[in-house]
Amino acid sequence: MRALEIARPGEPLTVLCLGAHSDDIEIGAGGTLLTWIAGGARLDVHWCVLSATGPRADEAGASAEAFLAGAASKTIELAAFQDGYFPYRPELKDWFEGLKQRVRPDVILTHRRDDGHQDHREICRLTSNSFRDHLILEYEVPKWDGDLGQPNMYVPLSAEIMARKCDLLDAHFGSQRSKDWFDAETFRGLARLRGMECRAPERFAEGFFVRKALLG
Ligand SMILES: [Zn+2]
Repeated sequence: MRALEIARPGEPLTVLCLGAHSDDIEIGAGGTLLTWIAGGARLDVHWCVLSATGPRADEAGASAEAFLAGAASKTIELAAFQDGYFPYRPELKDWFEGLKQRVRPDVILTHRRDDGHQDHREICRLTSNSFRDHLILEYEVPKWDGDLGQPNMYVPLSAEIMARKCDLLDAHFGSQRSKDWFDAETFRGLARLRGMECRAPERFAEGFFVRKALLG
């Protein structure tokens, strides 16, 4: 299938990454960011985690730095909204209104609309409410809810990038290792299925949901 390229070698690309919790962006789109940077695109990344406090803030900051090593520039914002309560916090809307003034992204990576976690869904809703003329790629996060769907856009990952994604997740999120789903088998298993669906040359891919896109 002919690929639609948005991150070209040597060309700038401003990316806004939005995640509710400290490991969401990495799980959903970490391989895509590593791939774009390794491919030579000049990424200016604005990375926001909305609920990152205490030790999880330290994890989030260190992990973002590692995943974005090689980016042309990076801005990392860690907010402290209460985990689990996003739909009941009107101040989140104010935060997004402020964010619009701070970044003009070419592409946005955010949670997907039908995610089973209420914080994730709220971030998606506020993303599309706030950024009205943007390419938005909604990423997926595997978890207990069993809410995975059918993506309609894929980013193939090399075997090397897939391994690096898993290594970085394992290295930076010690607080999550006790969760029974947080391991390389989960991440590789999902990526292998997505790679099968898009015939990825090296078998792995990340899947995204796109509601609107323009063909140039
Ligand atoms: Zn999350």
